[in-house]
Amino acid sequence: MLSVEEALQRIRGAARLTDPETLPIEQCAGRVLVERTIVATLDVPPFANSAMDGYAVRAGETPGEFRIVGMSVAGGQAIPPLGSGAAMPIMTGAPLPLGADAVVPLEEATELPDARVGLPSAPAGRHVRATGGDTRRGDRFEMPAAPLTPGSLALLVSLGMAELTVRSRPKVAILSTGDELAGPGAALGPGQIHDANSAALAAAVSEAGGEPLILPRAPDDPVAIEALLSQAAGDADLLVASGGVSMGRTDHVRAAIERLGALDFWRIRVQPGKPLAFGSIADRPIAGLPGNPVSALVTFELFVRPLIRAMLNLPGDGRARVAVRLEQAIPKDADRRAYLRVLVGHGPNGLTARPAGGQGSAQLRGMGMANALLVIPEGEPAGAAGATYDAIVLGEIA
Ligand code: AMP
Ligand code: MG
Repeated sequence: MLSVEEALQRIRGAARLTDPETLPIEQCAGRVLVERTIVATLDVPPFANSAMDGYAVRAGETPGEFRIVGMSVAGGQAIPPLGSGAAMPIMTGAPLPLGADAVVPLEEATELPDARVGLPSAPAGRHVRATGGDTRRGDRFEMPAAPLTPGSLALLVSLGMAELTVRSRPKVAILSTGDELAGPGAALGPGQIHDANSAALAAAVSEAGGEPLILPRAPDDPVAIEALLSQAAGDADLLVASGGVSMGRTDHVRAAIERLGALDFWRIRVQPGKPLAFGSIADRPIAGLPGNPVSALVTFELFVRPLIRAMLNLPGDGRARVAVRLEQAIPKDADRRAYLRVLVGHGPNGLTARPAGGQGSAQLRGMGMANALLVIPEGEPAGAAGATYDAIVLGEIA
């Protein structure tokens, strides 16, 4: 059985970068730049302008009384230069007139009769946004190795960009297997359950930066499973199956991987999710996740999310890890590293964790309520009450 780290290393080694595509910048939220080095072709701001509504002045002439002349508004053009003894009303974002080198905010000005104004002392540069004060033309810098945030998009637009070349999202085929599976909302016949994995894994694929393609559910039939997987290997960059990877008589996914491609490994020392089959079909990586929805989601988080990110040239899993104090003991398998479903919250002395529900790998109540996975190392028989552990943050902390 592989350790979590060994399995991850082998899985990441199977990642191939997706092709670049060029998109309008408005469509690039969450996408990943192919080239992270930026060379600015514009000064930002492109002209000196005011940071406040106020009066533009020659700093050296303050304090004093000034003649009010003209007006500079945002978007204004051909602003006349500022003469000696004059102050020009100026709005936020409006060009600074030539000769002015400071702005006195309106609230510090005293309006006087005869179109005059009294202004206090202002140092040069006060409330002025200098040309290129944020970024200078020719500046070189690296964008973070992370999906583009609203802030990154704002920055790149300010630098004059209208389109970005980003990694295409890996297409991830999702195949749920099992004779017992019925679609969401279907009336259940004898022995049937609803297929939770197709919807859940599709959501996890999108969250990781991939594009999910949900395949028709497969019965526990080797011929049907092989037909769906070999077709999907032609359409997708990565295949994710669930169910049918264990030792049962109706478990056919592992054999299908062996027949259609190659199996790399199929067991990891992890709880939940020990049986995880990993290999390739037609050069596409395939992860056969355990069928229990909790195991499927936890193993996706640990192994498939980093793989999708590696295909996008992103490091790690992109999750925050926080140290939390466990409020009550949670038993686990001593031999395996456990990822327990917990609710992390703010306690009087920092972050705390408590079980989000039952910890069985078929118990979705805990998975559905959890905002974090609590990591308990191999070798420990339980998460101990009062002890501090790492938690992988999956959701919002209230
Ligand atoms: P398996 O890995 O096929 O042995 O399945 C293990 C358990 O997970 C069984 O109780 C299955 O009924 C259940 N299971 C498998 N696939 C799904 C699915 N897509 N949605 C919900 N439960 C599933
Ligand atoms: Mg099954």
